[in-house]
Amino acid sequence: MPIATPDTHVPDHYRLLGVAPRATDAQIKAAYRKLSRVYHPDAQGGSAVAEDCFKQIASAYAEVSDAARRVNYDRMLMLRDPLRLMDDPRAERALDVLDTVVTRLRKRQAALPGVVQGRDLRVEHPLPFAKAMLGGLTVVRAEFTKPCALCHGAGTTEPARNPVCHVCQGAGTLKIGLRRQDVRCGFCAGRGSLLLAPCTGCAGTGQVMTHQEVEVHVPVRCREGAHLRVRGGGEPLAGGRPGDLVVVVRIQAHPFLRADGDDLVCQVPLTWSEAVAGGRVPVPTLETTQWLTVPPGTPPGREFRIGGHGLPISSNPTGAAKRGALRVQVFIDMPTELAPSQAAAVLALEAQLGVARFARALAYRALVSGPDGSGSSI
Ligand SMILES: [Zn+2]
Ligand SMILES: [Zn+2]
Repeated sequence: MPIATPDTHVPDHYRLLGVAPRATDAQIKAAYRKLSRVYHPDAQGGSAVAEDCFKQIASAYAEVSDAARRVNYDRMLMLRDPLRLMDDPRAERALDVLDTVVTRLRKRQAALPGVVQGRDLRVEHPLPFAKAMLGGLTVVRAEFTKPCALCHGAGTTEPARNPVCHVCQGAGTLKIGLRRQDVRCGFCAGRGSLLLAPCTGCAGTGQVMTHQEVEVHVPVRCREGAHLRVRGGGEPLAGGRPGDLVVVVRIQAHPFLRADGDDLVCQVPLTWSEAVAGGRVPVPTLETTQWLTVPPGTPPGREFRIGGHGLPISSNPTGAAKRGALRVQVFIDMPTELAPSQAAAVLALEAQLGVARFARALAYRALVSGPDGSGSSI
């Protein structure tokens, strides 16, 4: 059975069988036989829609063809929709007339001139960190549906093969309850006919997916989650103006750079020898790569400032010349798991360098542990 949503009505068993709620057993049986012939899957070349219709009709028939089950069902239906069991067409007709007048009044109120416009499209767009910080143009792929060219949105190219829905008599809606609320017919899903011959181009939906590529201007120092609106970049509409494209920015983190105020910070690992003897290391910037000269004896944690390679200054977003700094913070990539011979080589080198090269470490030890080395291990 189709799932009932607030605007969809799963038809009652009598509606499914196309009979009045007071129909005799013989009338119900005849109606069931007639509908079975129409929707039997064998008669419809194995159509899945026909099979579903057939199952719904068969289950309705099973319920109301059994006298005891029918009494229970009628009780339940009485509670759900009292008008149905009154079986008085005049009562229903009187309410329908009232409903038509109300609908007409509502339509008159709604008929104010408005802008005819296609739907807005919302797209989440991943943006590389550098592009988000520097701004510029980016191309966004916007997907939307358009009417199928094969069936022109009808969902079928053979309308004659799709029987009119007997439940709603082709209206696609049913008037339910005392308030004559218009709800979508659950048997034909609001189409008014049963789609036994769906279009091959769109599987009966009447719509196909398409896309367009739209150039979007990204402002300097664009924020995560920013909404960039492109007027007319949304879904086109024949005879109207296209909707807007709303791009929601999702910034992709940079593997090495992060923003800190107007500056960029980059943490760079140095090898042992680079820190001790000096060297040149590559540093990424927003645009390219810079080479930084590291002087001999560089301690871990030292920061080097490269002016003009940070973020565009926020107070002057158009001036490309004014930028913050790129702060390069170095750390030492310490070798681990040395073999005994390698550890011995390191000790030999340290001995060769002499105590004078480690004056700070020696002074620290002398002050903390005392000249005799007293104290307990942690
Ligand atoms: Zn189609
Ligand atoms: Zn229907």
